[in-house]
Amino acid sequence: MNKKTRLTRKKNPARLRCPYCGSPVQLRSADGIYQNNSDNAMLYVCQRYPACDAYVRAHPGTNQPMGDLANGDLRALRCQAHRSFDQLHQSGRMSRDAAYRWLSARLSLPLDATHIGSMGEYYCRQVIEACETLGMRSRRIAPQSRSEASGGVSA
Ligand SMILES: [Zn+2]
Repeated sequence: MNKKTRLTRKKNPARLRCPYCGSPVQLRSADGIYQNNSDNAMLYVCQRYPACDAYVRAHPGTNQPMGDLANGDLRALRCQAHRSFDQLHQSGRMSRDAAYRWLSARLSLPLDATHIGSMGEYYCRQVIEACETLGMRSRRIAPQSRSEASGGVSA
């Protein structure tokens, strides 16, 4: 039997281990994991999946993992953090670049490490809190509509 062709890559994602249970991690299609995998996404999935619900998406083309494997709780937190963050630039309040610079300063992280997709729970919560605080402040400065002002705050 021939030896398998060795792949030469800078990183070797095949050596990834699940951060939750230590099992090896497999690169596989997201079919059966994503409800809709029309993008043909590839995932690094814990070998114990679904008993261990940990995976991370691979960058299309390069198959490099986008971050550390995340379980359901962390994935939900990352989604929530991304939603909060995206509102900052999608609302036109600041550009996407400016939003990343703001977040990086706010979290005291280097800009090139300010990726929600690779953040753990602690940083995700920091992102959500920071974005909510900023959002609340901006509502007070620039009220978009008066329909919310049903309370009895007298000016
Ligand atoms: Zn695992």
